[in-house]
Amino acid sequence: MRPAARAPRVGFVSLGCPKALVDSERILTHLRAEGYEVAPTYEAADIVVVNTCGFIDAAVDESLDAIGEALEHNGRVIVTGCLGARPQRILERHPRVLKVTGPHAYEDVVGAVHEHLPPRHDPFFDLLPPQGVRLTPRHYAYLKVAEGCNNKCSFCIIPAMRGRLASRRIDEVLREAERLVAAGVKELLVISQDTSAYGSDIRYAPGAWRGASYQTRFIDLARGLAELGAWVRLHYVYPYPHVDEVIPLMAARRVLPYLDVPFQHGSPAVLKRMRRPAHSENTLKRIGAWRAQCPDLTIRSTFIVGFPGETDGEFAQLLAWLDEAQLDRVGCFKYSPVEGAAANALPGHVAPQLQEERYARFMERAAAISRRRLAQRVGRHMRVLVDTVADGTATARSDRWRGADRRCGERARRRLGRGADRGRG
Ligand code: SF4
Repeated sequence: MRPAARAPRVGFVSLGCPKALVDSERILTHLRAEGYEVAPTYEAADIVVVNTCGFIDAAVDESLDAIGEALEHNGRVIVTGCLGARPQRILERHPRVLKVTGPHAYEDVVGAVHEHLPPRHDPFFDLLPPQGVRLTPRHYAYLKVAEGCNNKCSFCIIPAMRGRLASRRIDEVLREAERLVAAGVKELLVISQDTSAYGSDIRYAPGAWRGASYQTRFIDLARGLAELGAWVRLHYVYPYPHVDEVIPLMAARRVLPYLDVPFQHGSPAVLKRMRRPAHSENTLKRIGAWRAQCPDLTIRSTFIVGFPGETDGEFAQLLAWLDEAQLDRVGCFKYSPVEGAAANALPGHVAPQLQEERYARFMERAAAISRRRLAQRVGRHMRVLVDTVADGTATARSDRWRGADRRCGERARRRLGRGADRGRG
C-alpha cells in the first residue's frame, strides 16, 4: 500500500516504434496532469503500465517477457499497445495482469490506472508543462501526425491492430509543434504509419494557424513546420508524385534534406506481392529527380529480403536497384511471418539459410554505398545537434544524417530511469 501522504507512482515500460513511444508520452502526460509521479524502477512503482509491440513474432515475445518481468518485480500490471489488440494472447500467459487495453486507447489505460490506483486530489499536482511529458531528450521530439493506416501490405498486421488512418487536424499538429519548440525542442521528427497519406482520411480539412490558412495535407504540414525555425525531419514517406512538392523546401533548407522512405524492395513483382503503397511508381526515376533538385538529399530506407516467392532473379533486381539508387543509409530485415498476415499464405517461403545469405549480400552492398557517400562528406562543415558528450567525445546528428531511426515494427525498449534503447534495422 502506498502511504496516503505521497503521490501515486506509475512505472512505465514502453516497447516498440516511435509511434508507440508517442502513445506512451500521451498516457504519461495525462497521468502527470492528474498528480501521478513516474517511478524509475519497478520497486518504486505502485503500479506498472507496459506499452507493448505486436508487429512481428519476435516483438510479441519481447512484450510477453516484459509483462512477465513487471509482474515478477512489481505484481500490479496494466497492459496496453499493439499486442493489447489480442488480449487472449496476453492472458493465456499472464492471467494475473490487472487489465489489457488496445493501441491508442488512452482513456481506457488511464481509466484502468484510476481503478487500481486512484489519483490523489491536489491542485498543485495538476500543474504540467505545456509541452506535456516526453520520453525523448530535451532537444528533439517525435511529432505524431496520424494514427493507423489505410494500406494493406501483405506482411503487416498494423492496420488490423491500430485501425484505419486517422489524421490529426493540421492546426492541432502545428500548435503542438509550436509548444514543443517554445519548450526548447530543436528537432521535430514527424512520424505516422504513412506520412504521405496525411489528411486524406479527413478530406484535407482546412485549419488556421498564426493567421494563415493550411490544409491537413503532407505539403502544408511541411510548410507550416518550416515556419518554426526548428529542424524538421520527415519519416515514413512513400514515393508518391505529390511528395515531389516537398523537395524545393529541402533545397531551400526550410525542411531538412532528409527523407525516410521505406522502399522494402526493388523488384516490381515482389512489391506487388507485398501490396506496397506506390508499388507501381518508377522509384529510381523519382529519386533521380529529387536529387537533381536537391543534391544534398539524404535518403534512408528499409528493405525485406527473402519475402515469399523471392527468386534469385528478383533478388538480383533488388541489388541492381540499390546500386542505382545509391541510398545513404539502409536497414534490412529477413522476412518473418506474423500471425494474421496475408503473406503467410503466399507460396514459396524462402529457406532461412538462403535468407541469411541474401541478407549478408544485401547489407554488404548497402554498407559499401553508405561508406562511399559518407566519404564524400569528409572535410565538409556541417551543422550538428549534439546528443551526448562523454570522455571528451561528442555524439551528434547532422542535418542530413542521424542514427538509430526506427520504423513500424522495429523494436526499441525504453524504460524510465534507465533509458535503455535497442533498435534494429
Ligand atoms: S507496412 Fe506500414 S504502410 Fe504497410 S500496412 Fe503496415 S503500417 Fe501500413
